[in-house]
Amino acid sequence: MLCFDIRSLEARAESVEGLLSVADPVWESDDVRPLRDGVHVHGRLSGAGHGRFYFSGTLAGHAIGECRRCLIDVELSVLEDVQLLFAEAGLDEADEDDVVPIPPGARELDMRPAVREEWLLAVPAFALCREDCKGLCPTCGVDRNSVACACVTDLDDRWAGLREVREPSN
Ligand SMILES: [Zn+2]
Ligand SMILES: [Zn+2]
Repeated sequence: MLCFDIRSLEARAESVEGLLSVADPVWESDDVRPLRDGVHVHGRLSGAGHGRFYFSGTLAGHAIGECRRCLIDVELSVLEDVQLLFAEAGLDEADEDDVVPIPPGARELDMRPAVREEWLLAVPAFALCREDCKGLCPTCGVDRNSVACACVTDLDDRWAGLREVREPSN
């Protein structure tokens, strides 16, 4: 569960053991959605002065990314420490960039939109299928993990030429 009654939160902290499901309507069409069941949210949500609430915990899940060298799909494991400050609309902090505003008159603190945003930030933009991925040949396009093409020497020569150009100026 990721929605909490605001009045009871003001009285006592809640431990958060929630799941932002992959089918939740909070996801938008271009989002990198989590695999399988969704994003697991663990932590603690507590009052931090009138109308302010603080969450500290972790997000965990898996996503599909693309290897930046050979472009195959890679399963990414995401585990991110997250701290969030929620503030009711009208408080000064509610306008600050890193503060999550709570809509006026809300009775519940709905963590789902903030969890979605933090998830999208936590999923790595660049993935590697393995540390030593050889990638696609920039000349002929074959996957050099499975095919050794003849272009490799050309590429090496090009880099050697670049080094010669650079070295005299050092
Ligand atoms: Zn790769
Ligand atoms: Zn090639």
